[in-house]
Amino acid sequence: MEALVTPLSSPLVAVPLKHYPSSSSPLTTSLSFFQKPHKYLNHRIQNSKFGNFLDLIPENKSTPIEFDVNWLDLSHKPLLDVIIIGSGPAGLCLAEQVAQHGIRVCCVDPDPLSMWPNNYGSWVDELSSLGLDSCFDKTWPMASVHIDDHKTKYLDRPYGRINRKMLKMKLLDGCVSNGVRFHKAKVWKINHQEFESSVVCDDGNEFKASLIVDASGFASSFVEYDKPRNHGYQIAHGILAEVEEHPFDLDKMLLMDWRDSHMGNEPNLRVMNSRFPTFLYAMPFDSNLVFLEETSLVSRPVLSYKEIKSRMVARLRHMGIKVRRVIENEKCLIPMGGPLPVIPQPVMGIGGTAGLVHPSTGYMVARTLALAPILAQSIVECLGSTRMIRGQQLYHRVWNGLWPVERRLTREYYRFGMETLLKLDLKGTRSFFDAFFDLNPKYWHGFLSSRLSLMELAMLSLSLFGHSSNSSKFDIVTKCPVPLVKMMGNLVVESV
Ligand SMILES: Cc1cc2nc3c(=O)[nH]c(=O)nc-3n(C[C@H](O)[C@H](O)[C@H](O)COP(=O)(O)OP(=O)(O)OC[C@H]3O[C@@H](n4cnc5c(N)ncnc54)[C@H](O)[C@@H]3O)c2cc1C
Repeated sequence: MEALVTPLSSPLVAVPLKHYPSSSSPLTTSLSFFQKPHKYLNHRIQNSKFGNFLDLIPENKSTPIEFDVNWLDLSHKPLLDVIIIGSGPAGLCLAEQVAQHGIRVCCVDPDPLSMWPNNYGSWVDELSSLGLDSCFDKTWPMASVHIDDHKTKYLDRPYGRINRKMLKMKLLDGCVSNGVRFHKAKVWKINHQEFESSVVCDDGNEFKASLIVDASGFASSFVEYDKPRNHGYQIAHGILAEVEEHPFDLDKMLLMDWRDSHMGNEPNLRVMNSRFPTFLYAMPFDSNLVFLEETSLVSRPVLSYKEIKSRMVARLRHMGIKVRRVIENEKCLIPMGGPLPVIPQPVMGIGGTAGLVHPSTGYMVARTLALAPILAQSIVECLGSTRMIRGQQLYHRVWNGLWPVERRLTREYYRFGMETLLKLDLKGTRSFFDAFFDLNPKYWHGFLSSRLSLMELAMLSLSLFGHSSNSSKFDIVTKCPVPLVKMMGNLVVESV
């Protein structure tokens, strides 16, 4: 994808995250991004068999970001307050925020300047509220949801594709300005003593700090759990593709297409899809360039990747979408829900390691960017110049800073949302979203962006029940009691 991005023309200005100037309105399209791919790539155009794109080789080769960061000086023993493992969105954002208060921070990552691999989308208002609305490749003023062949909902809420190169450069720039050091290595092990910890890296180096923060993503083994991790999983196959033509409106992104008419000639797929449905997510950039992703919103056990790809082939064929070139592809696997890590514990977490992914949607970037300054504040209160709170007290303060009781309680509700979705078949899922997107926007916006209070979530539930069809009410009454009871139990445990 980065081959399609024109380099940033203006130098980045060093300002704290909350105060980035917004250089364009939320609905502005960065046209430079959408130049025809062949101007930048010199690959042979390979047409896929009608509708089947799986034999096309993705063309994009990820190139590292060119950026001068401050590397950790190994010539003498480094003095560090905080070591952050990982330089994904979570790690960089936290590093920038903590370091701006004079705390000595080092980010350790096998490749701190590599391009982030994932395609990120977000509601525009979520990044705008952080002053980051210039970090979109493209925005769409509306989103649409096909409930079935006869019903489509139009959502009056702008959505955007995050320009991950720009976002990463902004965060790196903030890190550099605030004095964050970087070290290129993989962390193997963390050792703890009473008031400090150390990370052991695969290059043989060991560094000490008062606090280690694990921002190494979902696969981390550093953060501990004391309850069974009964995740649901979002799994998806996505392609950024040049197509001959496509049927999508250019002024709307397609949030969900639950239609299954493409399975008319595929009885096996249809049976499985009726029980474990998938939808198409599409971001049309122009009449030939589109990001397409066949997605299982949540399943447990995880739906097979092969099944997802077969459904996508059938769908694109039915829609008459001929893929000329696959510019980029992604396999998306996101663990969702499950319990929070042990709170507190000596390793702090942020992002995928800290339960921040939305249990019912799989989204996380905007929320992490919003919560990083809050966690940073807790760290600064402990390690800032005027105080020195370390060891158990520090771990207690930082974990509770990120996960105060109210936030844990609302997460239980979002987990309940996920458990409910897991129980719904295609028919139930359609009815659910039909009612969900009829709610007062305050509720569905707030639910998808994790910003409702417990009381608002209770109101949402009542309203959702009121908007539901009779069959949906039946589903709720028959399928939800077990998850509901579990949620109530968890709420009690979390609140004592
Ligand atoms: C394909 C995909 C698409 C997604 N799309 C969206 C989306 O559209 N919107 C959204 O909000 N969310 C999305 N998510 C969910 C979530 O926002 C992302 O997974 C996000 O990248 C998580 O950020 P992170 O910083 O926690 O971890 P990561 O982005 O995974 O970054 C972790 C970093 O840590 C490094 N690392 C790992 N192990 C070590 C180690 N031992 N030592 C040192 N460094 C290490 C890695 O190299 C990496 O650089 C998506 C997830 C996936 C997988």
